[in-house]
Amino acid sequence: MPPVPVGIPSDTATAGGIHLALIEIEKHYDAVLEPVRRAAGSHVQTTPVAPVPLSALILDTRSKCRATLAKWVRFVIDGRDLHTEHLSLFDVPGMVEMLIRHVDWLGLEDEGSKALEQLKMSAHDLTKIAVPERRDWMKLGPCPIVFEIQATEDGQDFTVPVPCMGTVRAYAGCDPYCDYCLTEGVVQWWERQMFGDQDPLKAITAPELVLAIHREYGRLYSEITIRTWENRGAITSVGKNAAGRNLYNRVAVLLWVAGKAAS
Ligand SMILES: [Zn+2]
Repeated sequence: MPPVPVGIPSDTATAGGIHLALIEIEKHYDAVLEPVRRAAGSHVQTTPVAPVPLSALILDTRSKCRATLAKWVRFVIDGRDLHTEHLSLFDVPGMVEMLIRHVDWLGLEDEGSKALEQLKMSAHDLTKIAVPERRDWMKLGPCPIVFEIQATEDGQDFTVPVPCMGTVRAYAGCDPYCDYCLTEGVVQWWERQMFGDQDPLKAITAPELVLAIHREYGRLYSEITIRTWENRGAITSVGKNAAGRNLYNRVAVLLWVAGKAAS
């Protein structure tokens, strides 16, 4: 049985879990209408007016949540013979409040664990939309460090080269480091370790940058946007290729995009 969540005065772990899920549902049910503005760290003022159009995912998640709440409200009303409760099954705060009042009873019912599972799932789905996870780092590539491990076989000592399994992560505002061996270094040093000295600038064209940014962040910017960044002086080209196309330093631009995303 999971431990009783801290701060929720409920009789059992199941009741405590249901109580927590209900609080999450109440917190995020309306917040999903403005997922971006309400993302963690966002300083944008929110408004109670929902922007249109809302995605089918948001409407569907809210409707599923309402149905789940209604199901357990009906269960409590039938089980405790509370037919005097006047409660609309569209009134989400009302249903949450009613279920919290009866959470200890619900937690002790045989169906309690099913209620916990379904309400937790609903809370999770809403939270995922209302507070989307934001990655504030970018992947420079697999860690190029090779360790030498001492080994002995048949009385012979020798060393075995073992490549690090980590990923080098770059954060805005500090030097990139490996998430496994924790080696830290400036970008240029990592580039030399990864690519050697043959092409230290790793200059690529705008279409290649579009692909690189999409690969790293899953965001699609057009070549026009990249040129706009350059015109505004946010990024600079480092020369031209044989076809006369502007070339950019891949790592420098990706780092700039990472900083933009984190700010
Ligand atoms: Zn490493």
